[in-house]
Amino acid sequence: MRKKLIAANWKMYKTPDQARDFFRDFLPLVKGHDRDEIVVCPTYLCLDDAVAAAKGSNVAIGAQNLHWEKEGAFTGEVNAAMLLAVGVTHVIIGHSERRQYFGETDDTVNLKLKSALEAGLIPIVCVGEVLEEREASLTDDVLRRQCLRAFHKVSAKKAVRLVIAYEPVWAIGTGKTATPQMAVDAHAIIRGEASECFGQEFADKLRILYGGSVKPENAHTLMSEEEIDGALVGGASLDPKSFAAIVKY
Ligand code: PEP
Repeated sequence: MRKKLIAANWKMYKTPDQARDFFRDFLPLVKGHDRDEIVVCPTYLCLDDAVAAAKGSNVAIGAQNLHWEKEGAFTGEVNAAMLLAVGVTHVIIGHSERRQYFGETDDTVNLKLKSALEAGLIPIVCVGEVLEEREASLTDDVLRRQCLRAFHKVSAKKAVRLVIAYEPVWAIGTGKTATPQMAVDAHAIIRGEASECFGQEFADKLRILYGGSVKPENAHTLMSEEEIDGALVGGASLDPKSFAAIVKY
């Protein structure tokens, strides 16, 4: 049995004050909930407050990105050691918005993944097809390519805490959700690629989350699928009641 992981991606929302307010309201709603792992990924600016607010609770804090270099002249960037130093345990890598707007590629995803694993962070690597690729029946090819290139020169031993999020780009922030069957089929492709790269035993343990317009209303149906090991939630994670309802599906 793989323990499900429900992660919030706050994107570019919330000031530190708003983050503190969120945790004040959210933590009592999920107190004692240990069926699933809960992770909240705020902006860099709110990490400190989020870590302090969640200390001693059942909620872990993740970042939304990192740079792969140990240090250097990379204006505006933050590395794995800096995230660890403020108490962050998870990091989202290769979100489609970063691929779409900030030039993230399969190669930078690979570099970031290696750096996160090396540092001991739990990476949540996002993969997923755009609408044109789905309509052209290219979903399987895209997922295989994204996984293969993300996993390049990563060993099964190092990757043991890897988490993948399948996020069809056409379902992110659009209100359109993949059907459970679409998600299950995509997850099977990803698990198959993980098995090719890291072996069957690794693939059987790999957690693959679904992301794309997950809401309190559809969380139960999606999470009831054995193949879906949790959710990466954007918009609906900003409100404490809504995110708590998803966590408790
Ligand atoms: C996301 O940001 O990863 C996401 C899935 O967003 P939303 O839930 O808003 O579709």
